[in-house]
Amino acid sequence: MLQIIPIPAFQDNYIWLLHNKRQAIVIDPGDAAPVMQKLVELQLNLTDILITHHHSDHIGGVTKLAANTNAHVYAPRYEQFSFKHQAVSEGDTVSIKSLNMKFLVMWLPGHTSGHVAYLSDGVLFCGDVLFGAGCGRLFEGTPAQMLKSLSRLKNLPRETRIYPAHEYTSQNIEFALTLEPENPALIERQHHTNAIRRQLIPSLPTTLSLELETNPFLRCQQKELIKNSGSIMTDELAVFTTIRELKNNY
Ligand SMILES: [Zn+2]
Repeated sequence: MLQIIPIPAFQDNYIWLLHNKRQAIVIDPGDAAPVMQKLVELQLNLTDILITHHHSDHIGGVTKLAANTNAHVYAPRYEQFSFKHQAVSEGDTVSIKSLNMKFLVMWLPGHTSGHVAYLSDGVLFCGDVLFGAGCGRLFEGTPAQMLKSLSRLKNLPRETRIYPAHEYTSQNIEFALTLEPENPALIERQHHTNAIRRQLIPSLPTTLSLELETNPFLRCQQKELIKNSGSIMTDELAVFTTIRELKNNY
């Protein structure tokens, strides 16, 4: 039975750990120490490391973990890394023998130019592309690229469970409510999220279904949102660009 657990790191990162009680893999280990601690605690053998993009809070622990465990590292082809790894790109399949899993690699530029996500059996590890009620900042990509990346995610099955790399959901919901103050699903999500965050329970994973109902960056065609964004043009890209800018300054 596969288990997926978050290992909190830094201020608000989650390093997702997948295991079957013997073997394990991690996604985006920005820090080695909390991962090593969890491996010892659960007596797990780390076999593979998946990387979504090159930011240090996602890769900082790779060299140490790989040295300590001999884990195999997968990382996006169109980005540079100082550690030994197997480069992956759009359409590749990553076979994780230890967990008997296969991941499809999706190239989703926008946050960084080479950013990839890993999709397997209804679960998606999306790094900093999509967050609970939000999306990543555009450090290297254009709004058009990010919108395209998000629209590819919109086409996944609605029940897909999504595992972003940051706990930003509460703040993102506050911003989303400025655009859709009367969205009942968003209001409900705020109550629920604030209640579980008060107990320090992660707000993630999320589902595509919930994001479609509450995430403003997936809702750029909603009339109420367009009106409240103040966007002069109403096409999806113009609205997306406007609300990404509003969020940067929120
Ligand atoms: Zn990042």
